[in-house]
Amino acid sequence: MADLDIPTARQLIDGAWTAAADGGELPVLDPATRETIQSVARARAVDVDHAVAAARRAAPGWAATSPSERGAILRRWADLIGAHVEQLAEHESRDVGKPRSGGRLNMYITQGIVDYFAGAADKLTGVTLPTRTPDYFGYTRPEPYGVCAVIIPWNVPAVLTVANVAPALAAGNTVVLKPSEIAPLSPFALAELGRRAGLPPGVLNVVTGLGPEAGVALTGHPDIDHISFVGSTVTGRAVMRAAAQHLVPVKLELGGKSPNVVFADADLDVAIPAIIASITENAGQNCYAGSRLLVEESIRAQVVERVAAGMAAIRTGPWDQDLDMGPLVSQAQYERVRGFLAEAPSAGARLVTGGEPATAAFDDGWYVAPTVFDQVDSDMRLAREEVFGPVLAVQGFRGVDEAVALMNGTDFGLLACIWTSDVSRALRVAGQARAGQVAVNQFHDAGVIGFPFNMQKESGFSRGGGYAALREYTQEKAVAVRLLDRPSA
Ligand code: NDP
Repeated sequence: MADLDIPTARQLIDGAWTAAADGGELPVLDPATRETIQSVARARAVDVDHAVAAARRAAPGWAATSPSERGAILRRWADLIGAHVEQLAEHESRDVGKPRSGGRLNMYITQGIVDYFAGAADKLTGVTLPTRTPDYFGYTRPEPYGVCAVIIPWNVPAVLTVANVAPALAAGNTVVLKPSEIAPLSPFALAELGRRAGLPPGVLNVVTGLGPEAGVALTGHPDIDHISFVGSTVTGRAVMRAAAQHLVPVKLELGGKSPNVVFADADLDVAIPAIIASITENAGQNCYAGSRLLVEESIRAQVVERVAAGMAAIRTGPWDQDLDMGPLVSQAQYERVRGFLAEAPSAGARLVTGGEPATAAFDDGWYVAPTVFDQVDSDMRLAREEVFGPVLAVQGFRGVDEAVALMNGTDFGLLACIWTSDVSRALRVAGQARAGQVAVNQFHDAGVIGFPFNMQKESGFSRGGGYAALREYTQEKAVAVRLLDRPSA
């Protein structure tokens, strides 16, 4: 592990591990024990200034580097990630509380994303444009924005780091990344590997600090050219207001309340394990978590019974025991989820399994038992708001129209999953989904390379994931040329 230890109370600015200007630090806690495992720098506005200045200095050189060379550096970065999967996974698993195998899976995804953009870096092209007469020539040219701010939350920090940083760098931008101070270790370790892969000083800077301090300083900074924000819808609104000050383009990836819509002809042997995984993976702390189960009334009782039995069998424990599910990430998250657990029964939902904070055995951590509430009404907070915990809300429907109305019945529009063996119905319902992503007979995007991480409604707007992300991090310049006659020599 020593190879990728994170220096105490430091941040990465201009290629060097530096303390905060005022020496401030923040503790990083292990959610399974609530003990401090690390401290990182507490960046404030002055540190953000240093990071942005470093990124600005590095920007012209990086933009002028050949795209193939940028791709080669990213490929070395991907290879180093592959060679350090265990250490990276340990950082992320301890930090977030996810089982070791979950951390490891995240690192394979992380490596794959960097590898994808390594290959894409020199395939970004403009177009030549038709002209009215042969005396003109017109073309477009994709250009980097310059300095990009990237702000991410704590739930899947490694994947979210590279999903934004890798396309930004591939397209020729420099970056100032602010991970959540709750889970900054894997982003720091990734940035260190990027440095070793050959990213020049200042091309990727990482500052850790509180949202109201470092986050606000970064999004309001006058020398930022583009902002990517991943986090809650509430903070997303604040980020957009900040971006408006300097008219900076924004990419927002926000919350979700994703439904699994199960029709009576679904293959339940495939659907039920996937539904359980969709709300217990990472203890339900995923933006795309399958937090709503919408099920056709004729099979509702048996589906609820089978899902509840599977949820009750989930083994919970600290990351290094590598069971099925870990604790929630923080005291604040624990209290938030318990608030929903306390409120739902009095609002009329029927508790089927879970409900109470888990575990005599794991009293030290922020554990919550996998929970199923049936007879949830669309007006309840549980049906509408993001819980960000292993809590499933079940609603029944009769017929396609009611299924579609429920599916689209929240302010969010991230992912909708449709379970049916009728392909025509699947495609019709997919077409009616007000969601950026749809999965049929699976949860999420397995099996598809470069699946665009799109969203609609209050889940945000972005063209993340896949080749479109490269476009997200470029601005297009259009050039019109008049071809003048010259007397021949
Ligand atoms: P927050 O919105 O609270 O925080 C996200 C990041 O923004 C953190 O780094 C935070 O710093 C920072 N921040 C907080 N306030 C501000 C501010 N005023 N200006 C700038 N930055 C700020 O989200 P959570 O950390 O609670 O993360 C969970 C949320 O993220 C969920 O809603 C989830 O759905 C969403 N998410 C969305 C994804 C997607 O792709 N759509 C993927 C993963 C998660 P600090 O930690 O110090 O507060």
